Amino acid sequence: MPHSLPANLQKVTLGKLAKLGIHNRFDLVLHLPLRYEDETKVVRIAELQPGESQQVEGEVTHCEVAYRPRRSLICQLQDDTGVVHLRFLNFYPSQQKQLAVGKRIRALGEVRMGYFGLEMVHPKCRVGGENAPLKQALTPVYPTTAGLPQATLLKQIHAALQELELTDTLPAEILARLKLPAFADSVQLLHNPPPHVDEEALLQHAHPAWLRIKFDELLAQQLSMRVHYRKRRNRTAPQLPGHGHLSSALLKSLPFALTNAQQKVWSEISHDLTQSHPMQRLLQGDVGSGKTIVAALAALQAIENGYQVAFMAPTEILAEQHYLKLRDWLEPLGISPAWLSGSLKKKDKTAACERIASGDTLLAIGTHALFQSQVEFKKLGLVIVDEQHKFGVQQRLALRGKGSEPHQLMMSATPIPRTLAMSYYADLDVSVIDELPPGRTPVVTKLVSDARREEVFERVRNACLEGRQAYWVCPLIDESETLQLQTALETHATLSEIFPELRIGLVHGKLNNSEKAQVMAAFKANEVQLLVATTVIEVGVDVPNASMMVIDHAERMGLSQLHQLRGRVGRGAAHSLCILLFQTPLSELARARLKIIFENTDGFEIAQQDMQLRGPGELLGARQSGVPMLRFADITQDAPLLNYARDMADEMLRDHPEAARAHLQRWMANKPDYLQV
Ligand code: ADP
Ligand code: MG
Repeated sequence: MPHSLPANLQKVTLGKLAKLGIHNRFDLVLHLPLRYEDETKVVRIAELQPGESQQVEGEVTHCEVAYRPRRSLICQLQDDTGVVHLRFLNFYPSQQKQLAVGKRIRALGEVRMGYFGLEMVHPKCRVGGENAPLKQALTPVYPTTAGLPQATLLKQIHAALQELELTDTLPAEILARLKLPAFADSVQLLHNPPPHVDEEALLQHAHPAWLRIKFDELLAQQLSMRVHYRKRRNRTAPQLPGHGHLSSALLKSLPFALTNAQQKVWSEISHDLTQSHPMQRLLQGDVGSGKTIVAALAALQAIENGYQVAFMAPTEILAEQHYLKLRDWLEPLGISPAWLSGSLKKKDKTAACERIASGDTLLAIGTHALFQSQVEFKKLGLVIVDEQHKFGVQQRLALRGKGSEPHQLMMSATPIPRTLAMSYYADLDVSVIDELPPGRTPVVTKLVSDARREEVFERVRNACLEGRQAYWVCPLIDESETLQLQTALETHATLSEIFPELRIGLVHGKLNNSEKAQVMAAFKANEVQLLVATTVIEVGVDVPNASMMVIDHAERMGLSQLHQLRGRVGRGAAHSLCILLFQTPLSELARARLKIIFENTDGFEIAQQDMQLRGPGELLGARQSGVPMLRFADITQDAPLLNYARDMADEMLRDHPEAARAHLQRWMANKPDYLQV
């Protein structure tokens, strides 16, 4: 490794560096300061500004251990212009000695108004400091970990800066066009800012040097996605032209016509399937936008060509619902889908697998059981993954490995803001259904404090007695499944007492498959009027007659979860109501979340605001952890840079492939999996 860390570093130090993600000398170069300390000048005490980190010099005029407000060493430092207090909460007797009355001290720390007037807590002190020369540059303060002193980091980083040849990976012509500084100059400046640098711009990450680093990072991300995308285009997949006899028969049999948006995405998908390289398309559409019918049409186009289709959903409830719906749609066309889930009896599973292997089954619908090793498709042409964000990256990769290369359609109702999609799904083609089918009445959302629970009971009772149906979503208990189950059982018992006149069902994650199916069927048939449910109903469940939903302890749920849950109502013609019951007092974050869900119905808008509230990492969720997150760039703030990076990635791959390779090598060397995917 040309850039490996110096051989003389101790093992403990190496361990600590690794903890910070530093594995080679280039990582050291990219270990950028959190902030800076200004030791380039000495400020007169009278001119100290609370809130700033400043350096003063003076004589100790008083030093004692105080006991109020808590035990601390208080030292009074005086210059010609005034007095400042230095305060130490933990201190050694030796420190006390160093700060004895009469000593001259140079102290650096954050100034604030304290108990004794202007003070610095735990300043950096230098005894006899007035003779030391002032620093020529701001002193960087690095993010570190316990036991790794700033001085060690600083020494290693500065050595790496000296020794590494930091040639620019961007062609000069591109740099000039983007008006960005050279890479080497940028890192030098960030680690050793010159005396008159715009410190505010450094702290805000808005300095051109910062822009360069962020641009490089975004460019590497875009390049790797584009490379990945191109690789895939070089692989082969079966060409599946649309003969149209099955898909048009299905369209004719439907009681509705496709919306324009459905039409548009369907033609994009249909076109992809005719290509000789595998489709990798993400179909996005808000809850209720009608993705399932589009998936069914895609399946038919593959089947028209004699190929098999696998349709996978993340939960049993959802997979079964798809199975029932597609069976209704396709049986009249002479196609019987097969059902495969983990909870099937062994005998039934074996039978299903045999029919899949022999090619008798053209459409297999199920949970991820579809992709376990014993399932072998004879002639798999298309894989459809519903609610793809619920699957891990690993599962997605397993899909690719199966048999020859099938086309892939991934669907998601978790709307992803445009910048996030551009950034993290740059390797996919994206189709968006951006309108809802006609005839829906928007869901009215009400925020109700738990103190008014009784009124909510009344509304539920009235709605059900009028022939409508309702969901009661149990509080979310994140820490324990047992507690979650207990909560669901208790809620069901309580509500059964409150509503003796209603038929109440219960569905939760611990029911087995046929029990779940039974409850859902009863709810669909209006035999159950009020369905008490855990968040298992979050994805996909479609019962149009249900027009009311109560979400208990809504403050515990995430925004996308609330949006998904709310999407279960408002599917029929009746006016729908979603009541978010919340417990007071609300935390700041919970209040902000509820406000967003109350004010917005558009999933994309909600996702955008969610991203601003929590950052993109949270939004993508831990499940996406196979995707390396950005360290420096922030796609909410750096959207313009992201746009440049995307355009530049294409240009570099076309006109400067060598530079593109060097850039990827520099930025992705630690992430070989990511380079391949
Ligand atoms: P999602 O995109 O959330 O998966 P679904 O596919 O479950 O949505 O569709 C929601 C409901 O809308 C279903 O009952 C479906 O039959 C119905 N639907 C789909 N497309 C249309 C349309 N163009 N016109 C009317 N109803 C539609
Ligand atoms: Mg769906």
